Amino acid sequence: MYDPKSMKAEEFICHDEILETLAYAEANKNNEELIDRILDKARLRKGLTHREALVLLDCEIEEKNQEIYALAEQIKKDFYGNRIVMFAPLYLSNYCINGCLYCPYHLKNKHIARKKLTQEEVRKEVIALQDMGHKRLAIETGEDPEMCPIEYVLECIDTIYSIKHKNGAIRRVNVNIAATTVENYRKLKEAGIGTYILFQETYHKKSYETLHPTGPKHNYDYHTEAMDRAMEGGIDDVGLGVLFGLELYRYELAGLLMHAEHLEAVHGVGPHTISVPRIKPADDIDPDNFDNGISDDIFAKLTACIRVAVPYTGMIISTRENKECRERLLHLGVSQVSGASRTSVGGYAEAEEENSAQFDVSDNRTLDEVVRWLMDQGYIPSFCTACYREGRTGDRFMSLCKSGQIQNCCDPNALMTLKEYLEDYASPETKRIGEELIRRQAEKIPNEKVRGIVYKNLEAIEQGRRDFRF
Ligand code: SAM
Repeated sequence: MYDPKSMKAEEFICHDEILETLAYAEANKNNEELIDRILDKARLRKGLTHREALVLLDCEIEEKNQEIYALAEQIKKDFYGNRIVMFAPLYLSNYCINGCLYCPYHLKNKHIARKKLTQEEVRKEVIALQDMGHKRLAIETGEDPEMCPIEYVLECIDTIYSIKHKNGAIRRVNVNIAATTVENYRKLKEAGIGTYILFQETYHKKSYETLHPTGPKHNYDYHTEAMDRAMEGGIDDVGLGVLFGLELYRYELAGLLMHAEHLEAVHGVGPHTISVPRIKPADDIDPDNFDNGISDDIFAKLTACIRVAVPYTGMIISTRENKECRERLLHLGVSQVSGASRTSVGGYAEAEEENSAQFDVSDNRTLDEVVRWLMDQGYIPSFCTACYREGRTGDRFMSLCKSGQIQNCCDPNALMTLKEYLEDYASPETKRIGEELIRRQAEKIPNEKVRGIVYKNLEAIEQGRRDFRF
């Protein structure tokens, strides 16, 4: 039976409830009156249930679909303004004892180069990332308790935070590692991580078990209940995601939203972020071998439906997607993008000789090019990490975000961190465009006192001072 408050995976992600939801959505996909009611509810910006969101996903009425897209864009603006948060993944180790059918790190892959960074190599990677201008990382590893135990991950986090190269600093480390124990989550929390990210891959239990035939990741319940253990271990911010292409996208959206409902119901705080990765070609992986690939149009609809259903969540799009696709999704709710990513172990500091990459990236632009592109589209690239550093995490972040208050500090923080980027790392053309953008945006800060402080800080940044935040 479906019970969002249950701590059992099969009860909060309930297969029968998902099937009923899909049938309900199918039956109502042209029910204009119901769709209007759901859209009216969505306009309150308090989110939608998985059933309501599925009706919107299935909706076939073109005019209503345009309303969904427009609303997704408006909600994104209301909660996140025109800021886009920047980050990069950092691969620490690709040793893995799992058998995931879609991932080239799987144990049986003998021709991929296996690597694990030493602390000196972590240093080199972080310096390369700092020299691009990155301030926020997501660390990634395969699952291997012997080659990559939690102590190794903790040591890497310490190293990452300790490196201050020129004006660079990594101010927030998010972590995307395999499901683990409450005790290990507590250690990650103590190490000062930002968000704990774990993709569900698929919410369909049977498919999940087939796609993960061997290794600890085979255990669907342990994987699905990981966020509850993370929260029990004191981690406030968790990031959900589905690997689209593995299972039917309608099933996945229902499961994903049920997971968000569960986190709200049990912990009083929904997912801090939702990622929307699609399966990509990789070393011995051909996405065409998976039957459930989704078109760009379906991908756009999914993104818009997630945005209206979970209005406060940060939505992340990686360099798995190309520039055109990313551009489209930015309009429909995405609030965080990665830039200049390498998915290989050690790929930032040195050109790859042997392939250790997790998947092919589709957006190969430099960070400078990504920053300029965002500004050309009217966005403010933000390197801000202030919320987490000021203790605005979990329900404190959510209640501020839901009340719209967060914008009073986010816009100024985005401008100040963009200014740092322009001073330290930007090309002359990017700097010119950025300066102009900051000038225009700073004028618009409504609160006179805050505006005054921002002007003062922008000047101080020009004189070499760093790390201002509200
Ligand atoms: N090993 C960790 C785990 O088990 O969750 C997580 C880290 S893994 C480096 C990050 C994510 O990459 C996986 O959760 C999966 O969704 C995604 N991934 C794996 N193979 C992929 C592929 N071929 N294309 C796109 N994404 C892929």
